[in-house]
Amino acid sequence: MNIILLGPPGAGKGTQAGMLVEERGMVQLSTGDMLRAARTSGTEMGKIVADVMDRGELVTDEIVIGLIREQLDTAKGNGFIFDGFPRTLAQADALGALLAEKGASLDAVIEMQVDDETLVKRIVNRAAEAAAAGQPVRADDNEDSVRIRLMEYYKKTAPLIGYYHAKGNLTSIDGLGEIAEVKAAIAGVLG
Ligand code: ADP
Repeated sequence: MNIILLGPPGAGKGTQAGMLVEERGMVQLSTGDMLRAARTSGTEMGKIVADVMDRGELVTDEIVIGLIREQLDTAKGNGFIFDGFPRTLAQADALGALLAEKGASLDAVIEMQVDDETLVKRIVNRAAEAAAAGQPVRADDNEDSVRIRLMEYYKKTAPLIGYYHAKGNLTSIDGLGEIAEVKAAIAGVLG
């Protein structure tokens, strides 16, 4: 089973994906994690995307589609969870084509709904907690970048809600509850 977790920054996609990996043996494909790894390892691509990411803007479709293509060719597991990808209509079309090439299907798109003020609070708190614990703080986890990330989401990613609705595989869930409640809502969709 291949699924997309769709939702704004701070919606909890990564948290829920992590539990699906542990409990169902699925493979999480997070383009955000892949881009951060590329930065840390100092690759050319990592250098190119660093400023764009820190501002909270989207990196090019070409780069992220390339990352996903590589992973689809190599990663093995009990289905893929796309987390933070696709983020544009062009990425959504590319994902459809990549899956079709492999004879694979997209089984569910789960939209996690969380209001803006909660998102900003969650991300700013996450940064404050990391800083207090002496852990690294993401350079884009500050209020200015979060506002830009949200605007990018509404302009470029939210149209995917209509796109997948029209394709018939969208389910929207409330992302505001406790982690366990959101998890149960996702399990209700996946069966
Ligand atoms: P969040 O969902 O918390 O905003 P991510 O870790 O998914 O964070 O992404 C962090 C940043 O990486 C984004 O703001 C963007 O710059 C870049 N990025 C990640 N995935 C994509 C994508 N599919 N398309 C374009 N840019 C992306």
